[in-house]
Amino acid sequence: MPKSCPTCGNSEASIKFFGNFCENCAREKFVARLPRSAEITVCKRCGKIKATGTFVPPNGHNIEAAIKSNFPKLTVHLIDYDNSSAKLDISEETAYGKLSAELTIELTQRKALCEMCYKKACNYYEAVIQLRGNNYKIARFIERITRFFDMNNEFVGEIERTADGPNVYLSNKRLVQAYISKNKLHSTNSFTLSGVKNGRRIYKNTYAIRFE
Ligand SMILES: [Zn+2]
Ligand SMILES: [Zn+2]
Repeated sequence: MPKSCPTCGNSEASIKFFGNFCENCAREKFVARLPRSAEITVCKRCGKIKATGTFVPPNGHNIEAAIKSNFPKLTVHLIDYDNSSAKLDISEETAYGKLSAELTIELTQRKALCEMCYKKACNYYEAVIQLRGNNYKIARFIERITRFFDMNNEFVGEIERTADGPNVYLSNKRLVQAYISKNKLHSTNSFTLSGVKNGRRIYKNTYAIRFE
């Protein structure tokens, strides 16, 4: 005699079973123990979200990754989302096969500052470039290095205008060095000790570049 579902009475002859229960009831039980909301950490300045430990642009791929951490051991696909909710396709591998369900959850936002916005807020910098000479070339240089820093998720901070020319403050000295050598620019470099962190000396680097 085919088994029948103890919850709804469906017969094994007419529907797939997951253990003692029919697929419909097994799915209902599965859905009942899923979380109904997920918290997304959002940078209040730039809008990036935290997914797998780092702040990344708030696109579908990254929102899916951020939501996944709320559903350990399950497969999660984002079907649709807006600011306050997400529609998901969630599945679980069971001993009787794959059980899938669609679920709409509430998205809540936790406001934070990402590392870059925190550094901007504190006027953080590691390097200064002193630009001297041809104003047109200086303006182009600032435009290009700003784009280069944006692309590498770093930033150009304050631009201090002096009588000799602008001093540009930048968040990452290694990136300045990379930019200078990539563009084969000639710079005069100096290093100022700014502190000690974990027993290591921290230097702020100054690069003087003259455009003829
Ligand atoms: Zn049933
Ligand atoms: Zn940010």
